[in-house]
Amino acid sequence: MERESIEKIQKKKLKAAVKRAEKIPFLRERIRERRIGEISELSDLAKLPFTTKKDLIGTFPYGALAVPLNRVVRIHTSSGSTNKPVATFYTRKDLDIWSELMARGLACVGARCGDVFQNTTSQGFFTGGLGLIQGAEKLGLTVVPLGSANAEKQLEVMADFGVTVFHAIPSFALRMIEMLDVSNGLRASLKIRIGVLGAEPWTKEMRRKIEEGLGIGAFNNYGLAEVGGPGVAIECPCRSGLHVWEDRFLFEVVDPSTGEPLEEEEEGELVITPLDREAMPILRYRTGDLTRIIDGKCECGRTHRRVEWMRGRIDDMVKIRGIGVYPSTIEKIIASHSESNGNFQIVLTGVDEITIKMEVNGTTFSDQSAVNRLKASVFDEIKDATLLRTNVEICQPGTIPRSDGKTKRVLDLRRI
Ligand code: ZN
Repeated sequence: MERESIEKIQKKKLKAAVKRAEKIPFLRERIRERRIGEISELSDLAKLPFTTKKDLIGTFPYGALAVPLNRVVRIHTSSGSTNKPVATFYTRKDLDIWSELMARGLACVGARCGDVFQNTTSQGFFTGGLGLIQGAEKLGLTVVPLGSANAEKQLEVMADFGVTVFHAIPSFALRMIEMLDVSNGLRASLKIRIGVLGAEPWTKEMRRKIEEGLGIGAFNNYGLAEVGGPGVAIECPCRSGLHVWEDRFLFEVVDPSTGEPLEEEEEGELVITPLDREAMPILRYRTGDLTRIIDGKCECGRTHRRVEWMRGRIDDMVKIRGIGVYPSTIEKIIASHSESNGNFQIVLTGVDEITIKMEVNGTTFSDQSAVNRLKASVFDEIKDATLLRTNVEICQPGTIPRSDGKTKRVLDLRRI
C-alpha cells in the first residue's frame, strides 16, 4: 500500500479511536480538560493525552475497559516483572485483529503453511503464548502448543514433530543451545529454521549467538500487552529494523523526559496508539522503549515504516556512580566474544561497585591465560563504552542462575 493510502486509513481510524477512548473515564477527563476540538489531521495526535503504565496499574483491574464486560471474550495481563500487572482486554473483533496481525508477522519472517510451529512460552496470562498460537493457526501452520517446559523437553518435542518454526524468549533460546551442546544426537534430529523471539530486551549480538548456536534465522518480534500484545512490529528478512503495522497502530517517538515529539529519525521513547481496539482503546501509550523511526521504503517492498531494534527500556537504565548504563550496552560487549555462552549478570554491591559476571564455555574456563585475556579485554571495552571501571568475573558454564520467565540481568544489592 502506498504511504498516502496508509495515512488516509490512519486519519479515518484515529477519529473513531478517540471517540472510543472517551469511554475510559480517566482518558475522557483528560480529553475534556485539554478542550481538544475536532480531530481532523494526523498531526492532531500530539494534542491528545498520553496513557502511562502508572495509569493502567492505578486503575487495575477494569479501569481502562471501554465496553461492558459481557463484550469481553478474553483477559490477559502484562508480566508485571517489576510492578503489579496491567490487565488488557479483548472483544471478539479485537481477538480477530490480533490473530491477523500475528499471522502477518509470522508470514513476514517466512513461515508458511506446511511449517510446524511450537510455542515454548507460558500460555496463560502472558500475551506471547496464546497470541502467537492464534496467529500461527490463522496462517495455517501446524501448531504444537507445548507451552512452558524445560529446554530438554522442548527440544525433544521439536525433534519428534519436525518443528520448523518456534517462538521463545531470547534467554530461553540460549538455554536450548546449552542443552544441545550436552545432548547426544538431538541436534541432528532437529528441523528448526526460524525462531521468533521477543518479550525481553536483547541485542543483535545476542541474535548472532542464537543463530549460530541453533542453526536458525532469528527474528525480533515486538509488542506489549498494554496495546494488545505481540503483533505490533516485527523484522522482515531484510532485517533493517522492525516494520510497525501502521494500518492498525500510530507510532511516534518522543523525548522521554518532556514528552515532546522529536525530529524525524531522532532516538527517543516509542509511543503507540492502537487504532482498532474496542475493549481497551487507550491513546498514546508510553512504552518506555528507546528507539527511532526509520523512514523510507524497505528493500522487502513493504511500505509500513520501521523502528530501529530497541536499544533498551528506559526503566532498565541503572545509575552507577552518576553514569546511566543500559544493560544492552554490556550485553553487546559480552555477546561479541565467542568464548561467551550469552549468559551474564550485572551485580551492583556496596556503595557503587559493579561486577560483571560472564559465563564462558568449558574450554575457555579451564585455560587460565585465555580467562585473563578475556577479562582484560571485556574490562577495556566496558570502560570505553561507559567510562566505568568494572570487576569482570569469568564464570563456569551453568553458574549464573537461570529463570523460567524473563531473565533478570541486573542484581542491585547496593546500600544506597
Ligand atoms: Zn522490510
